[in-house]
Amino acid sequence: MLEDNYAAVQKKIAEAAIRAGRNTEEVKLIAVTKTVNLATVKRAATLGIRDFGENRVQDAAEKVAALPELNWHFIGHLQSNKVKEVIPHYGLIHSLDRLSLAGALQKGADRSDLTVEALVQVNVSGEESKFGLEPRELVPFLDQVKIYDRLILKGLMTMAPFVDDPEETRIYFRRLRELRDRCRENHENLMELSMGMTNDYEVAVEEGATMVRIGSAIFNAHQ
Ligand SMILES: *Cc1c(COP(=O)(O)O)cnc(C)c1O
Repeated sequence: MLEDNYAAVQKKIAEAAIRAGRNTEEVKLIAVTKTVNLATVKRAATLGIRDFGENRVQDAAEKVAALPELNWHFIGHLQSNKVKEVIPHYGLIHSLDRLSLAGALQKGADRSDLTVEALVQVNVSGEESKFGLEPRELVPFLDQVKIYDRLILKGLMTMAPFVDDPEETRIYFRRLRELRDRCRENHENLMELSMGMTNDYEVAVEEGATMVRIGSAIFNAHQ
C-alpha cells in the first residue's frame, strides 16, 4: 500500500541519515510519478508528500496542470523546444546537461519574465548511455552560464549505474559530492545534491544527498 511504502521509505531515509550523522530534514524526498496517474498523485499528496518528479513533458502535462500547488521537479532529458512548457509549471529542473539548453532556458524565462532554477546533471560514472556533463566539463560550464541571469543553479544531479549491489554506487555519489564541494569555492549557491533512486537511495543519503528521487519503492507495492 502507498501509505506503508511511503512510511518505509521515510524510515530508511531517516536511518541512513543517522548512520551518516546527518539531519533527516536535510533530505528532500521527491516522489517520481512517471508511472502513475493523476488519482494516485492526489492520494500521495494526501499523505503529505509535496515534491513530485516527472521525466516527460507530455505524459506529465495533465498531472502538473491539475495540481499546481505541488512542487514539480523535471528530472528527465529536456529538449530545448520543450522549455516553454516546463518553465511555468516546474520549480526545479534537475537535468541541465548542455550549454544550448541553458541558452534556451534563459530565453524562455526572459520571454515569460520568470527565473528558472536548475541542477547541472553530471555523468560521474562515464557510462555512454547516460546524459550529463563529464566532471571535467563542469567548471568551464559554470563559468559559461554565468551570463544567463535568469538561470539560477542550485546544485548537481547524477544517476548512478544500475547494479545489483547498491554499495557499488557509493563511489559515484561520493564523487558528485566532492565535485559540488570543489565548485562551491566559486559558486556558493551550489548546495543541492540530487542523487539516489529506489535501488540506491540509502547509500546516496549516506553520501550527502539533499534530494532523492524515488518512484518504484513508493508506487510499486512489491518493493
Ligand atoms: C524514474 C526515475 C527515477 C525513479 O526511479 P525508481 O527506480 O523508480 O525509484 C529517478 N530519477 C530519474 C531521472 C528517473 O527517470
